[in-house]
Amino acid sequence: MKTVVIVGAGIGGLATAARLAKAGYEVAVFEARAQIGGRIGELRRDGYRFDTGPTLLMMLEPLERLFQDLHRRLEDYLDLTLIDPSYRVYFGDGTVFDSTPNIARMVREIARKISPDEVAGYLRLMADLSGMYHAVVPAFVRKQYDSLADLFSPYQVGLLVRHRLLSNLWRRVGQYVRDPRLRMLFSFQTMYLGLSPKEALWVFGVLTYMESGEGVWYPRGGMHRLPEAIAQIAQEEGARIYLNQRIAEVLIEEGRAAGVRLESGEVLKADIVVINADVPTAYRELLPPTPHAQRHYKNSCSALMFYIGYTAPLPHQLHHNVYFSRDFEANLRELFEQNRIPSDPSFYTCLSNRTDPDDAPTGCENLYVLVPVPNLTGEDARIAAPRVLETVIERVGLQRERIQFVQTCTPHEWHAMGLWQGAAFGIAHTFFQSTAFRPSVQTPFRNCYLVGASTQPGNGIPMTLISAELVAERVLGRWGRKA
Ligand SMILES: Cc1cc2nc3c(=O)[nH]c(=O)nc-3n(C[C@H](O)[C@H](O)[C@H](O)COP(=O)(O)OP(=O)(O)OC[C@H]3O[C@@H](n4cnc5c(N)ncnc54)[C@H](O)[C@@H]3O)c2cc1C
Repeated sequence: MKTVVIVGAGIGGLATAARLAKAGYEVAVFEARAQIGGRIGELRRDGYRFDTGPTLLMMLEPLERLFQDLHRRLEDYLDLTLIDPSYRVYFGDGTVFDSTPNIARMVREIARKISPDEVAGYLRLMADLSGMYHAVVPAFVRKQYDSLADLFSPYQVGLLVRHRLLSNLWRRVGQYVRDPRLRMLFSFQTMYLGLSPKEALWVFGVLTYMESGEGVWYPRGGMHRLPEAIAQIAQEEGARIYLNQRIAEVLIEEGRAAGVRLESGEVLKADIVVINADVPTAYRELLPPTPHAQRHYKNSCSALMFYIGYTAPLPHQLHHNVYFSRDFEANLRELFEQNRIPSDPSFYTCLSNRTDPDDAPTGCENLYVLVPVPNLTGEDARIAAPRVLETVIERVGLQRERIQFVQTCTPHEWHAMGLWQGAAFGIAHTFFQSTAFRPSVQTPFRNCYLVGASTQPGNGIPMTLISAELVAERVLGRWGRKA
């Protein structure tokens, strides 16, 4: 039986473990931390429960495919619910807008809160984004790239031209909807990738479509149920998962993976090694020197987090809420061009207890706050955190005496989790770090693979699940199924 060591129990490592264990490989996963799930973490404190990273589950297809391939019924492991409205938006001018994937309700909301004149543009935008999404995902996203030639087949070039994929998202959204609030609403989703909508290509409108077209889902019990469910299946298939075990080095002999060395010094032999650590960290710290270790990756921005136990109801908040800066374009300039913490930041809040009442004590709220901030190459979020918290208190309307605790997570904590330069969303999705240009799941060493958000196809839970598919496909393509 071929043995596989997986370095890291993020969702990418776990999905690979489940797929390979199901195919009959002997799989062992080593996780440095005390908890599985990586960025899809969970915090419990004083009767409150928080998801610490992702809160929005979109594009269900890769998750459904994972369960199908593992011969499991998704509903036996996860109770997924559509969150509708997807989120409440607080614009800087005081407009409060509920965004929904329900087209009829969205049309009404736009006509009532923005202008009836914008409805036709919204409908055309959704139609065009839907067409692009369904063409682009199979052609560019769920795809093995072995060389640049895989990016320029006549079919792909046809799509590039037909959908003008390389045009600018911000400018083009502005051609469908004229109101600046709608322009923000239909392009800010690139910030989930740590990318400015003003710098993003039109192709990243797939994110807008995922959210506004397909909707936002949530596994009851919290996002952390996702890695837990996948870990459970991996274990049912025979994989072993070890916590608090950091891998210090991936051993390479004669150009191929030979095993790993744990921080304790113990050496484990393996036929195949899959690394779920962030790519720049993997090349710089775990693998022998290669040109990949010298590559200058542009990193995404990071996230300053506040997990707040709040002892009074916040009735105006939904499960998901987005607060736009009073000057969104200045916010983007400060964050992405000047590498500074915006003077009036946009931010996002989540109250999972709207859907899971047990996540906070009765009458209380588990308020999760995410503020996009520079990674460690920019202004220090530890110093700015009190000032940013004041903005959150003011805009959400919190009463200080009701704040039971505030637990803070800065880019330094993301860095401690192994994310290069503390970039919470991994390497950025610039043109030269996307599709075939993004680090391949295949390292230059035989039998040694990378899986996760900084590899192909990219950041986010669905993309990371696809990267696990790409790795499993390569492994099975070479050695076949064992079971
Ligand atoms: C604040 C925040 C909000 C987000 N929101 C969303 C969202 O709403 N929706 C969405 O789809 N995505 C979201 N994302 C992105 C999503 O979390 C990631 O794309 C995804 O979880 C990445 O998974 P991964 O498997 O690549 O890596 P990680 O989750 O980073 O897991 C890697 C694991 O490897 C371990 N590891 C690293 N090095 C070693 C070593 N040497 N030895 C042993 N173990 C090691 C780490 O401890 C970690 O557990 C968000 C991310 C953040 C940070």
